[in-house]
Amino acid sequence: MTTYQSRLRGREEVAEGTMAFHLEKPAGFQFKAGQYVDISLINPPETDSQGIIRSFSIASAPYENELLVVTRMRNSAFKRVLSVLPLGTEVKLEGPMGSFTLHKNRVKAAVFLAGGIGITPFLSMIRQAAEEKFPQLLYLFYSNRRPKDAAFLKDLEVLSQLNGNCAFIPSMSEMDKSKLDWQGERGFINREMLLRHMDGLKGPIYYVAGPPAMVAAMREMLTNAGVEEDDIRTEEFGGY
Ligand SMILES: Cc1cc2nc3c(=O)[nH]c(=O)nc-3n(C[C@H](O)[C@H](O)[C@H](O)COP(=O)(O)OP(=O)(O)OC[C@H]3O[C@@H](n4cnc5c(N)ncnc54)[C@H](O)[C@@H]3O)c2cc1C
Repeated sequence: MTTYQSRLRGREEVAEGTMAFHLEKPAGFQFKAGQYVDISLINPPETDSQGIIRSFSIASAPYENELLVVTRMRNSAFKRVLSVLPLGTEVKLEGPMGSFTLHKNRVKAAVFLAGGIGITPFLSMIRQAAEEKFPQLLYLFYSNRRPKDAAFLKDLEVLSQLNGNCAFIPSMSEMDKSKLDWQGERGFINREMLLRHMDGLKGPIYYVAGPPAMVAAMREMLTNAGVEEDDIRTEEFGGY
């Protein structure tokens, strides 16, 4: 694994309590959409028992000239420091790591199941697919509590409209707690929801990313529906 120096170039809120961090892409840094990096803070002003390193999926696409990471802002020392880190501050990157990347057989569809911030690896894959005009069918099911919790909702709608091979199905599980109007799917992702948008469940490769409980529930749902274990790939975002 290679270590790189990078710098924080910008940050903004992209959903409630959710921040995107723009990092300089170090010279020679190459990755595949879906991979992640370990980010280390250098001499942070405070730390806690969880330490100074966190893993983040890269949400930008390989063709872009920056590295984007996106996270729910919790009250850990790491995130308190990251949230106020002066622009231009150096951070250490290790990676890229992971094999949560799109299969090469473009004839086989991919179904992405994202729970909340689990959207990050799929954002990278979908941006890269749009850039390279992949002929592959992609389905993105994106589950959040409310629209204001769903990072990149608008961008994903636009991306799926531009890429005729990409179906985007956002779903909200707590619209009773939202003041916004919502015409789309409601509730957790389940077999019935998948079947409303796909012609059967067997055949595609399934990719699931999100908190461990969500990943376990999706795996169980898929295997109960007859999807082969070999056709299910997962990335657990521990710490949520
Ligand atoms: C491959 C990978 C990719 C990830 N990508 C993203 C991403 O794109 N965006 C994002 O927001 N997060 C991502 N995460 C999760 C991220 O690394 C942090 O764990 C998460 O953001 C919580 O950090 P925190 O500072 O809020 O809480 P922490 O201070 O890290 O911890 C909160 C609580 O969770 C527990 N915990 C911490 N880490 C783990 C773990 N790995 N497994 C089980 N329990 C744990 C701690 O003991 C503590 O009780 C990813 C994780 C992995 C492994």
